[in-house]
Amino acid sequence: MKRLSGIAASQGVAIGPAFVYRPEPLAFNEQIIQNPRTEINRLIEAIEAVQGMLVALEAHTQEAIGEAEAKIFEVHRMFLADPAFADEIKAIIQEEQLNAEAAVDRVSNELMAQFSAIDDEYFRQRAVDIKDIAQRLIRQLLGLEETTLASLKNPSVIIAHDLTPSDTASLNREMALGLCTEIGSNTSHTAILARSLGIPAVVGAGKLELSSGTMVIIDGQSGELIIEPDAQTLAEYRTRQQARQRMRSLEIAQAQTPAVTLDGHQIEVVANIGSVADAEYAIQMGAEGVGLLRTEFLFLQGDTLPSEDEQYQIYRAIADVFQRMPLIVRTLDVGGDKDLPSIDIAKEQNPMLGQRAIRLCLARPEIFQTQLRAILRAGHERNVKIMFPLIGSEEELHQALYQLEQAKANLRARNLPHAENLDVGIMIEVPSAAVLADVMAPHVDFFSIGTNDLAQYTLAVDRTNETVAHLADPLHPAVIRLIHQVIQAAHRQDKWVGLCGEMAGNPQAVPLLLGLGLDEFSMAAVSIPSVKALLRTISKTQAQEIAQRCLELPNLQRVREFLDNP
Ligand code: PEP
Ligand code: MG
Repeated sequence: MKRLSGIAASQGVAIGPAFVYRPEPLAFNEQIIQNPRTEINRLIEAIEAVQGMLVALEAHTQEAIGEAEAKIFEVHRMFLADPAFADEIKAIIQEEQLNAEAAVDRVSNELMAQFSAIDDEYFRQRAVDIKDIAQRLIRQLLGLEETTLASLKNPSVIIAHDLTPSDTASLNREMALGLCTEIGSNTSHTAILARSLGIPAVVGAGKLELSSGTMVIIDGQSGELIIEPDAQTLAEYRTRQQARQRMRSLEIAQAQTPAVTLDGHQIEVVANIGSVADAEYAIQMGAEGVGLLRTEFLFLQGDTLPSEDEQYQIYRAIADVFQRMPLIVRTLDVGGDKDLPSIDIAKEQNPMLGQRAIRLCLARPEIFQTQLRAILRAGHERNVKIMFPLIGSEEELHQALYQLEQAKANLRARNLPHAENLDVGIMIEVPSAAVLADVMAPHVDFFSIGTNDLAQYTLAVDRTNETVAHLADPLHPAVIRLIHQVIQAAHRQDKWVGLCGEMAGNPQAVPLLLGLGLDEFSMAAVSIPSVKALLRTISKTQAQEIAQRCLELPNLQRVREFLDNP
């Protein structure tokens, strides 16, 4: 028996035979060709064929997994359609009389090396994308069949160096019991996909030397891969797995029932979503509405942003899924680590501190106005609320509210039905806004605390930087005190407070947040059944004692130890 430690990327236990997925490197020779013209035509045909494949893959993924996961193939298509990429390959064919396979390989390797050299998770992921595109193109040039995980015939635990977006898209969720990769972080494609499919996963486990068929266990809680477990370990994990499955079934069976604490407080549990497909899944998981619609996820496609009418149709479709339940639409949060092909964003030295979210919208009122009008129209006779991200000062809030009034005036002038009095809230995710919560509260109907960013900015840790991201922990006492301060300030002015960072779905943090007085918990839909179940097992009074104690603790480690064993 051997235990390897990696990063716990997706909860749960998987037990089964390993399927070691190591796609063979594509074999081709570098050749001097006689007729560059013919070779270039071969390249053009291959690019067209791959474009067709990507369209099909996108449609399949959208249906089988979800819109957000399908978007990656749109990105690949755009990359492939970029004349600069093809021109570079053509130039090599022309000038060096190289065969197309070798030219594609050369250009993509150079690009990958450039991207990999940048110390940033985003760019490292782009390198993975380029590899994926290049391999597909070379395979097409060689006339080879696709080799994908779709060929997996028996339920197995997938072991790989890393998985490309194409690999994960072809993943058959009936057959993939769990995943373990040698590299990757919590924000890599594989980790995100595993979480959204509910497949236990460990990433970044280091060199994995085992062969297919070896019995393995994935512990998605501790982040361990256990190879050839002994009988006792196997029995322990089987018991754990069965208990977890029984618990999950019970939790899902109870998911549509409200979460009422032992002392009778009903707590609102809502979902974070980014697509219509997410909306439908959220309903199945017992969401009581949406605490955060990340609108930027709706616009990853295309080289222009959707028009007012197009946006209106999308928001309306999502609101209709939730009927009378609340839908909080967050205005565009791009910049930082989120780029949109349709918006030109200048390169910045520190994008997380740059023209991000509301700052970008205020600087580009035409983009903002279009979105605000679309949301206001969708809000007509529907329970839609609007939320501004990254507000850092009262002036900024006033400017955003002024823009909202402008959008209403435009709709009035055009005689278009819209919501005149929809609720307006702000995300509290910049420390200045948390400190000034009492100043902000009179101007809004609610707050939603974005702990992903609040932790990043309070603790001066780039949440996308693999080497330090673990330090951006919202259980840090500094963040807990800010959350406390925000809730107190809002409640004094009769405003409600939600929380839509990852923290809301973390079972360790739930009692603490309840005790701090949080009114609404918003999280990935997959976490809703277990958080509702957990809330039913605690009393608010007990939770208040837990919160009080945490507010007195001096450091993160002490908070974690205490919450593990309150
Ligand atoms: C947050 O910052 O906590 C949040 C929910 O927003 P995002 O993760 O989209 O920045
Ligand atoms: Mg945020």
